[in-house]
Amino acid sequence: MFWIAANAYNEYVFEIAMSKIKEFDAAAYDYLKNVEEQWSVHMFDRTVCCDHNTTNFVESFNAITKANRDMPVLTLLEDVRNSCMKRMSSRFDKAVSMKPNDLTEHAKGVLATRTDDFRFCHVTAAGGGEFEVRDGHVKFPVTLGNMTCGCGKWQGLEIPCKHGLRVIYNQRLDSRDFVSPFYKGAAYKLTYGDHIHPMADPTH
Ligand SMILES: [Zn+2]
Repeated sequence: MFWIAANAYNEYVFEIAMSKIKEFDAAAYDYLKNVEEQWSVHMFDRTVCCDHNTTNFVESFNAITKANRDMPVLTLLEDVRNSCMKRMSSRFDKAVSMKPNDLTEHAKGVLATRTDDFRFCHVTAAGGGEFEVRDGHVKFPVTLGNMTCGCGKWQGLEIPCKHGLRVIYNQRLDSRDFVSPFYKGAAYKLTYGDHIHPMADPTH
């Protein structure tokens, strides 16, 4: 019940899950309701373009330190520096060849999955850049200008959801224009435009 509420991209799904939690344990409901912006995706600030609600990326980072975790601090830090150097290096090389409007691999992957998924969606125009998209038995309002969909997934990552994509394709627009600049070459270059330079051995 908690994970359904935590992974909800819109208020409707969230409230249904929360009402089940309330039936199960009212005290847990009160506690969770008090801090919902900290754990439920639908409340996350859309300007950060991130829907992560687990600590998985911290675990990944932790995993690379495994071999040297019991070593002295300097050895451990040297290992972390070396891993970061390796990681930044491949991204630096990629950033060099990216054009400002090119999408990152991540954004391309999300768009490809969502494009595969939208063939059962039907679009009805409402005028003024607003559309109603029927997905199976459920309808979602899409507003192109605000880049929003009632399902909440567009706002969650700032990459169009399948309903938004269906509208974009119907209107013969370019889906790249509806993806946040965070996922484009210009931002990627700013992030990885510098790299960690190699260092001499500590004995030197
Ligand atoms: Zn949607």
